[in-house]
Amino acid sequence: MPVYTDDALILRTYKLGEADRIVVFLTKERGKKRGVAKGARRARSRFVGTLEPLTRAGVAYYEREQRDLVRINYVEPQQSPLAAVGREGQDAAALGHAEYFAELIDEWAPESHTDERLYRLGASVIDALASNAPVAPLARYFEFWLLRLQGVYPSLARCPDCGGAFDGGAVMPPREHHFVCGRCGPASGGTRVSISALQFLRTAAAASPEGLAGAPLESAASRELETAHRRLIAVHLEKELKSARVLREIARTT
Ligand SMILES: [Zn+2]
Repeated sequence: MPVYTDDALILRTYKLGEADRIVVFLTKERGKKRGVAKGARRARSRFVGTLEPLTRAGVAYYEREQRDLVRINYVEPQQSPLAAVGREGQDAAALGHAEYFAELIDEWAPESHTDERLYRLGASVIDALASNAPVAPLARYFEFWLLRLQGVYPSLARCPDCGGAFDGGAVMPPREHHFVCGRCGPASGGTRVSISALQFLRTAAAASPEGLAGAPLESAASRELETAHRRLIAVHLEKELKSARVLREIARTT
């Protein structure tokens, strides 16, 4: 049985039998895998605290012929969303976002097909979350890059209708999934994206998550992008994510 060691992101887990867990994880070298973590639900299991969604870890697993499920030998966390726990006012949002990012990666990662850019995006956002980066700009950054890596982020270069620049902001018209300029957009309705939100995206296109520190994102601009991104994600996934609904509940209660 071949044993593989790799860097990985934990995406989600679910129960198996009495004491085990199935772990879905994205490896850097060999794409998304599902594996059994034997005894992971026992109180003194070596897996305790290592399987939070978006944990970045070194993993070892072996594959069995003709089986989809691999067997996980160990998970050694290098960066965990639990690093954010205990920070005043930040931990619920940070953990909720870690789960949201992990769920999106899980939805988009092809099975057993290497996607190193997706792995690197996830690894960079967990590093930023663990070092206390503000969650809203990080979430907009992650959504923007996730959609770009899938090749479905609409063009921000020029308005597709008139060829003009987006110098007065942009609008995503109702039931359409691209941006047009303010002159070509509908008089009302649609999702409006201000100049400052577009400026943030231009910075995000050329920066690492750490580089966002110099790109302030006001809460109004973040909400505009959140709405536009939710529409894009919904149309490309054809469903709404559970973690996105949880995040809205967290936002309402804090
Ligand atoms: Zn136009």
